[in-house]
Amino acid sequence: MRRTPALIVGGGPAGSAAAITLARGGVRPVVLERHAAADAICGGFVSWRTLERLATLGVDPATLGGDPIDTVELFAGRHRRTAPLPGGGMGVSRRRLDGLLRDAAVRAGAAVETGVTVRTLENGVARLADGGEMAGDAIFLATGKHDLRGSARPAGARGEDPTLGLRVRLLPSAANRAAMAGRVELHLFDRGYVGLVLQEDGSANLCLAVHRSRLNEAGNPAALLTELAREAPVLAERLADLTADPPVDAIANVPYGWRARTTEQGLYRLGDQAGVIPSLAGEGMGIAIASGIGAGQARLRGESAPDWQARFARRIAAPIAIAGAARRLAESRRAAGFLPVIPTSLVGWVAQMTRVGQRP
Ligand SMILES: Cc1cc2nc3c(=O)[nH]c(=O)nc-3n(C[C@H](O)[C@H](O)[C@H](O)COP(=O)(O)OP(=O)(O)OC[C@H]3O[C@@H](n4cnc5c(N)ncnc54)[C@H](O)[C@@H]3O)c2cc1C
Repeated sequence: MRRTPALIVGGGPAGSAAAITLARGGVRPVVLERHAAADAICGGFVSWRTLERLATLGVDPATLGGDPIDTVELFAGRHRRTAPLPGGGMGVSRRRLDGLLRDAAVRAGAAVETGVTVRTLENGVARLADGGEMAGDAIFLATGKHDLRGSARPAGARGEDPTLGLRVRLLPSAANRAAMAGRVELHLFDRGYVGLVLQEDGSANLCLAVHRSRLNEAGNPAALLTELAREAPVLAERLADLTADPPVDAIANVPYGWRARTTEQGLYRLGDQAGVIPSLAGEGMGIAIASGIGAGQARLRGESAPDWQARFARRIAAPIAIAGAARRLAESRRAAGFLPVIPTSLVGWVAQMTRVGQRP
């Protein structure tokens, strides 16, 4: 069995941030990642705080090449509300972002092994799909939304009417491109919301979080999009750019609001394995990167995994709670009623307070 001082399972933002931090601190980690090129289901909105953290990890925001975003535009039915963001964000594809972070991890000295799928993680040993095994003195679990047998998040975290994440890509018309430039759009509807940003590759990334009951009523993702276009004229304009039968990526049972308050000795839970913030906050990548840096530093200074995990859970409590409250309003049937009277200062406050590291 191979053994390493630091084994990182998953090479998304959380795993790469931990890898860079550990490698810079003199511990050469091994990252096991099943995909050669990442393409996680994600809205692609990178917040101003995440851009700052990326710079500290050696990923210059200028190299991302994404669409700068300084405004959030909320839509519900026929109503719209526009608010400035507290800082400048960016729309970036996960392929680009994750690729640059992995390159930075390799430059820092981490060993990144792609095409390696971990099947189970138990008692400090990862069993691989090819039958191999690898042990780590410390293990960093960074598999995102995907649970590993032996270390899975509790099933109850999904809630009674679980949420699915769906993603389609649009090739925006010139008119839609001009309308969306510089902003992240959030289209609110009964039991879900759509996030929409332009990305560096010329596409518009449309991501939906929707409760299963609503998707079941519509029948399937394509029928749901048709329904939403009937309810909301601006969303209908955006969806006019959809090609016939577009590929729809889906992830089931996203446990929004869940946090790991504890863990076992030697196992640091990162990113979505540490806590899942409702995606309308656009801070999941922020939590992933902050947890990777934080857990890497904790290991380097000898802080135990349970102590660090409890501390990190407290650090993300307020952003997750505030995003949860915003999500309940966004998904309510009455969203179109209250949207016109929401102060734009409140939208800015929520955007500010849902950043990790930001305290009330
Ligand atoms: C609908 C939706 C929209 C979102 N929009 C945004 C947004 O706009 N902005 C934002 O900041 N956040 C957003 N998020 C959240 C964000 O995508 C996640 O919080 C973030 O990707 C978590 O990073 P991570 O590194 O923990 O996991 P991931 O990014 O999921 O990375 C996990 C990595 O582990 C690998 N892996 C998984 N299982 C195995 C295995 N068994 N063996 C080996 N490798 C494995 C995967 O291939 C992947 O590369 C959104 C989430 C959803 C569901």
